[in-house]
Amino acid sequence: VRFDNLGLSENLQKTVTKNGYSDPTPVQAQAIPIIQQGKDLLAAAQTGTGKTAAFVLPLLNEIEKDPTDYQPCSPRVLILTPTRELAAQVAENIEMLKGNLPVRVALAYGGVGINPQKKALAKGTDFLVATPGRLLDLIGQRMAKLSSTHTLVLDEADRMLDMGFLPDLKRIMKFLPEDRQTLLFSATFSPEIKKLSLQFLNNPESVEV
Ligand code: AMP
Repeated sequence: VRFDNLGLSENLQKTVTKNGYSDPTPVQAQAIPIIQQGKDLLAAAQTGTGKTAAFVLPLLNEIEKDPTDYQPCSPRVLILTPTRELAAQVAENIEMLKGNLPVRVALAYGGVGINPQKKALAKGTDFLVATPGRLLDLIGQRMAKLSSTHTLVLDEADRMLDMGFLPDLKRIMKFLPEDRQTLLFSATFSPEIKKLSLQFLNNPESVEV
């Protein structure tokens, strides 16, 4: 499989080439077509496999085809991560892969001031990359509204469970539409991850690399 067989726009193909990606990694080759069909995905992939671009590229492709009509505080895509470091890394990846596309990325994590995060959300954003606790704060302050978020990504879901985020995740799910697309990435398929996928995903396709 090559990048030009994955149904990505010319724009995105140019950007991946410019970034020195010559061919899709295995998780990209398998996950991108599933995500483009709008299906839910359960993916076992470690850091270093190219898992971030595997969900960012098809989501950027969709936004390019159908640009967001920005509504305050209503992200189109929500990406949940266990740590602020990973959140920042994912946001950086999106900034890199969006190239010249007019795509907005907002970050929300704890341990830093909440006001700049509120401002970015109020302006309207395509992507919100967040850790669970700070996101719940922002929802409580009516600064994040998830009722029109149509894609949820759970990145490093196994680490989120290890860190005790399950109650927060369950609370967040209640704010998201039932008919959203959900993409779950985890280093392994443990029984806990299987259980989580049964709770939060709808008839997912599985990918293991
Ligand atoms: P990740 O697994 O998402 O943390 O990505 C690991 C590293 O691989 C990052 O530095 C990416 O920029 C890089 N990467 C992602 N996809 C590709 C690709 N198709 N070819 C080469 N490098 C890639």
